[in-house]
Amino acid sequence: MRPDMGKEKEIVVSGIRSTGILHLGNYFGAIRNYIRMQEEFNCYFFVADWHSLTTHPDPKDLRGNVFRVLAENIASGLDPEKVILYAQSDVPEIAELYLLLNMMAYKGELEKVPTFKDKVRQNPDNVNAGLLTYPVLMSADILIHRGLKVPVGKDQEQHLEMSRNFAQRFNNRYGYLFPEPVAFNYGDDLVRIMSLDGNGKMSKSENENATLYLSDTDDAIRNKIKKAKTDAGPQEPNSLMPDYIANLFTLMRLVSAPETVQTFEDAFNNCGIRYGDMKKQLAEDMVAFIAPIREKAESIRQDQAYLNRIMRQGAEKARESATRTLQEARKLMGINYY
Ligand code: ATP
Ligand code: MG
Repeated sequence: MRPDMGKEKEIVVSGIRSTGILHLGNYFGAIRNYIRMQEEFNCYFFVADWHSLTTHPDPKDLRGNVFRVLAENIASGLDPEKVILYAQSDVPEIAELYLLLNMMAYKGELEKVPTFKDKVRQNPDNVNAGLLTYPVLMSADILIHRGLKVPVGKDQEQHLEMSRNFAQRFNNRYGYLFPEPVAFNYGDDLVRIMSLDGNGKMSKSENENATLYLSDTDDAIRNKIKKAKTDAGPQEPNSLMPDYIANLFTLMRLVSAPETVQTFEDAFNNCGIRYGDMKKQLAEDMVAFIAPIREKAESIRQDQAYLNRIMRQGAEKARESATRTLQEARKLMGINYY
């Protein structure tokens, strides 16, 4: 039996970058899993403020974004009494482990990571070392709690493979310390929500008119869905759905009643669909889904003292676990002189 397999609950670690307002992709790709996991596992969820500096270094946005991400997670159903919620930068042990893991990460493998290549293409003037070593910091985030399960979206699969490699290298070189983390989600497929204009995924930092945010007003939701990309409709029965139409059905499956989805699917399959009607229905169901989260987040954000308390309490618990791991790592590496 491996040393990490005991009666203790399995350890889950995941983070969200503080780069803006949370959207439906974050909710259905990440937070929805968090809410279920908090009942079963020992969860460490953090606001990834250091990670946000690779692309969003402006100090004037940072604080607001950090507390916003925290409030929106709690409003979505995360319970600070059940999970450990903290800011990454409140746990300096992560930075030390990152430094140690950097000695086991090779330039060649980091340069090959597709998300790194994307960022270089998008922003050739800001190819900083933080961007290159993003997977190492992400590995430190997970390994610092000896995390086993990581609920991430499809965009993060390769980073996680690197985390397993770093864990393995450390264990082989110095002795067993880290379990190898694996991706985890409840469904068979990882959900990926596309932008309403059909261009790429919904994202905090891009394309705001085609992204549905958890903070959108009812009218903003209606307007954005009204403008979502559609076409003249299928010309033959049982046609293949274009991506942007399939995305509307994905959204509908997530927020509408199954009978409603069925009605519009049937209409699509026999070429009788009216996208105007479908969008109206989707908009109303989306308003009913988002409005309570938005209102709750607004009220939580009014209470800064509460948010501060949650963050401090989370940081304290996260540091306990982080300190334990780091002491072990230092011992195994011979960095314990006194
Ligand atoms: P940014 O543009 O700043 O990177 P983001 O929207 O990609 O923001 P992240 O903080 O990088 O958000 O990711 C938080 C979590 O949300 C991750 O688990 C990620 O896999 C998931 N996620 C992000 N966008 C989507 C999406 N469109 N569909 C499904 N899951 C998503
Ligand atoms: Mg992202």
